[in-house]
Amino acid sequence: MTDSTHDNDRRNFLQRSVFGTAAASLAIASTSHVTAQTAHDAAEPEVTNEVDVLVVGGGTAGHVAAIQAGRAGAKTLIVERGSQLGGTTTTGGVAFPGLFDAWGKQVIAGIGWELVRESVELDGGKLPNFSKVPQRHWQNQVYTNQFLYAILAEEKCAQAGVEIAYYEFPQAITKAGDHWQVDCVGFGTRRRVRCKQIIDCTGGAELVGLLGFPRMREEERQPGSFLYKLGSAPSPGREQLHRLYVHGADSSNSRTATVANLTGRKSILEKARKTGQRLMHLQPETGFRESFRIEGETMITVNDYTSGRIFDDAISYAFYPVDLHTKTGVKPKPLQRGKVPTIPLRALIPKGSRNLIVAGRCVSSDRLANSGLRVQASCMGMGQAAGIAATLAAKAGTTPLEVPFAEIKSLLIEHGQIVPGQV
Ligand SMILES: Cc1cc2nc3c(=O)[nH]c(=O)nc-3n(C[C@H](O)[C@H](O)[C@H](O)COP(=O)(O)OP(=O)(O)OC[C@H]3O[C@@H](n4cnc5c(N)ncnc54)[C@H](O)[C@@H]3O)c2cc1C
Repeated sequence: MTDSTHDNDRRNFLQRSVFGTAAASLAIASTSHVTAQTAHDAAEPEVTNEVDVLVVGGGTAGHVAAIQAGRAGAKTLIVERGSQLGGTTTTGGVAFPGLFDAWGKQVIAGIGWELVRESVELDGGKLPNFSKVPQRHWQNQVYTNQFLYAILAEEKCAQAGVEIAYYEFPQAITKAGDHWQVDCVGFGTRRRVRCKQIIDCTGGAELVGLLGFPRMREEERQPGSFLYKLGSAPSPGREQLHRLYVHGADSSNSRTATVANLTGRKSILEKARKTGQRLMHLQPETGFRESFRIEGETMITVNDYTSGRIFDDAISYAFYPVDLHTKTGVKPKPLQRGKVPTIPLRALIPKGSRNLIVAGRCVSSDRLANSGLRVQASCMGMGQAAGIAATLAAKAGTTPLEVPFAEIKSLLIEHGQIVPGQV
């Protein structure tokens, strides 16, 4: 190599470095730093926890249940197989929770509403005016920034003293005296949890299934939807994303959920190719509308739902049309004016179980009632009630159904929830 060749090479290298750095700094606008503090024994694969309340599933109902249990004084652990809180609200991208109001007034409040309200306020968004009855039910759903919502949920867990375990799920449950022993796995982690109460918020009542209590599932389920945006960048908290119906989507197990995700993504790739539009946003997984529901100590029928039956042990209102999605789409059937359905505590208790309660779309209900009950505000209402019932049961050394209902009701009210028949 001659000197001049060497100089040329060096000049080219310097130019590449300078331009390379400039290009990189254009691509990555800024870098900031933060340090994750892990425990000194973080490399140990075996972990144990002794808690009052274990919440499994940190989705729409689960994080509310955990925050409530923590706030009410229970030592609480939440195990979530994904990487963030919020479930269908955040990871599924269905970031327009509803309905918190009915016929001109707010009927669901509490922790779910606190989170929705605070994320909208932080995002500079707009809250609906609940004193106005909208022409179409969906007009009072609350456009929420899914990213802020997920982070605020973590912050509220931390403030309530709730420990979060991501990337883990229960593999086995056994009874150990008056406790549960729940063995969870995650990558590089085996966690043994001893707890007094379990709240199953997995969407499809997976722990209820693991324990062998009966669950119901329809032969043909409502389609799932993959949320995405082609063409232009979405504005979180201001709009709904595009939806792709994934017919046959089934969240019953990892194999069926994998098929749903592969099918959805393949179809979105085809759309991008066909339209020539840029893919600007894609949620990480399919949103699933329906899988298993529990057979509870009572079952909410569509007649209970549409007639606005007020159960003696009602822990939350619910409000949404009967909303069954099929192969041809959905034709919501609005409730009659003045009707506001309620959810009884017994619909959250798997029949014949002790020290176990569910919250969320797996609530014991017939299919049509469930198509309305499954929406987010009512899932949050159920989550908060489950958090209270499990905490009081853990403190009293009993099962949720043996806690005097008046105590559950008054603690719910104390924690900001609206309870049917409150005054
Ligand atoms: C496409 C679509 C549109 C919808 N539209 C609306 C709407 O407009 N308004 C509205 O209010 N509602 C809407 N819904 C309904 C509502 O979003 C859901 O019914 C509700 O969010 C379900 O809440 P959940 O807590 O029961 O389950 P999810 O929010 O799904 O939470 C379940 C959580 O459990 C975790 N999990 C599951 N199994 C395990 C396990 N074994 N171990 C650990 N973690 C586990 C999951 O990762 C997830 O985080 C829609 C739903 C879908 C899918």
